[in-house]
Amino acid sequence: MPSWQHVTYSDQITSESAGNPVTVGGWVQDIRNLGGIAFIQLRDRGGVVQITVLKKSDPALFKEMTSLTRESVLTVKGTVKESKEAKGGYEVLPEEFEVLNAAESPLPLGVVDKVGADLDTRLNNRFMDLRKEEVRAIFRVRAATLDGIRRYLSGEGFVEVTTPKIVAAGAEGGATLFPIKYFDKNAYLAQSPQLYKQNLMASGLDRIFEIAPAYRAEASDTVRHIAEFTSLDVELAFIESSEDVMAVAEGIVDSSLRHVTTAARSELELLGVEIEAQKPPYPRVTYKEAIDLLKSDGMEIDHGDDLGTEGEKLLGDIMLDKHSAELYFITQFPTSLKRGTFYAMRDDDDPDVTGYFDLDYRGQEIVSGGQREHRYEVLTEQMRENGMDLGSFEFYLKAFRYGMPPHGGFGFGVERYVQKMLNLPNIREAVLYPRDRVRLIP
Ligand code: ATP
Repeated sequence: MPSWQHVTYSDQITSESAGNPVTVGGWVQDIRNLGGIAFIQLRDRGGVVQITVLKKSDPALFKEMTSLTRESVLTVKGTVKESKEAKGGYEVLPEEFEVLNAAESPLPLGVVDKVGADLDTRLNNRFMDLRKEEVRAIFRVRAATLDGIRRYLSGEGFVEVTTPKIVAAGAEGGATLFPIKYFDKNAYLAQSPQLYKQNLMASGLDRIFEIAPAYRAEASDTVRHIAEFTSLDVELAFIESSEDVMAVAEGIVDSSLRHVTTAARSELELLGVEIEAQKPPYPRVTYKEAIDLLKSDGMEIDHGDDLGTEGEKLLGDIMLDKHSAELYFITQFPTSLKRGTFYAMRDDDDPDVTGYFDLDYRGQEIVSGGQREHRYEVLTEQMRENGMDLGSFEFYLKAFRYGMPPHGGFGFGVERYVQKMLNLPNIREAVLYPRDRVRLIP
């Protein structure tokens, strides 16, 4: 145990601890007083340890311990004893205890109640909600996912970077920008690191990634949009086509899924989730084929339309039925849909089509990207077509005049990925303190 760890966690108690003194610490989950004997379930990060108090051994201690309020936080010094009845196989016979902080009663949210509280109440009392091990498990899976992603990208020579989140211009269109006051100037919260990661492609740091918040003033209230999400952004240079970019996205998903199945095995078990990492390459469906598939399934949709939530969902069902695929790419998005907007490279032979792709997971887009336009003349033409003021993008454009290699990349929504991986009904379940149109506290 490190010198700064002062309590033994319940999952650190082993057969070797039996008969030995121990100090445990945690929250009082439950007290069962049977008159002469009482059982206190003390919960910590590792699970629950049972404190068994006998009245006849210490009546004063018995009285004090049985009058504790639920969810108070204590340390207990005592002796470990093996016990067939106790959860975990051990109990602690207490000699002394200290209340570090008593909990008020009633609780704002039940921790072990069978009846589930609604999501709003849970989020309003998130610290309490997180005392439930199945809620904490989500964030352990999320951490394992990020760890898997970092391991893969570092292994492939990608350098982790951090770019500004206070910016002068947006990359994804004005409607979803959050304006802020920046000294005596107007600024915005970054919707995406798009302009910076492309800028870096001209620097020699030509394989980079960033894991950071992205801000979108999303007007719609959906189960897959939040105003602040964690974006994994990847950019790589000297590519030949969007296929190279897709291969990296595929590598990230495949290796992080496999990492999670081992690193977060017990959390997945607790959540009742089985992950079978689908073998790459993931199927590729062109946008055109996707529309035809949806039409033939009876959906009213036309070429040129956005797939929308409904279309994405239905395509997810079709891909699962016909190809047993939970993960698949939709490729060659039409230019008119402005997938990737002004910076997307278009097909030289058919400018109505881009090499842009989405990666969908069980009927929901989690990644979007492709090859970018690196030729200055073409890029500025596309920007003009989008009605953009080139002057405000000079820092971005400059890099395209002094040696910009062909490059591409994508944005990957971390919470959406975790949401789909764990079958969570709402993206907010995968965010500790979600931000949306109404939610600003906590
Ligand atoms: P959508 O069409 O679903 O609104 P988008 O096309 O605006 O998404 P991009 O700008 O391509 O999304 O962003 C790349 C990825 O970032 C998305 O695939 C998604 O995983 C994630 N993402 C984008 N906006 C949000 C949001 N508001 N909340 C959570 N994740 C988001």
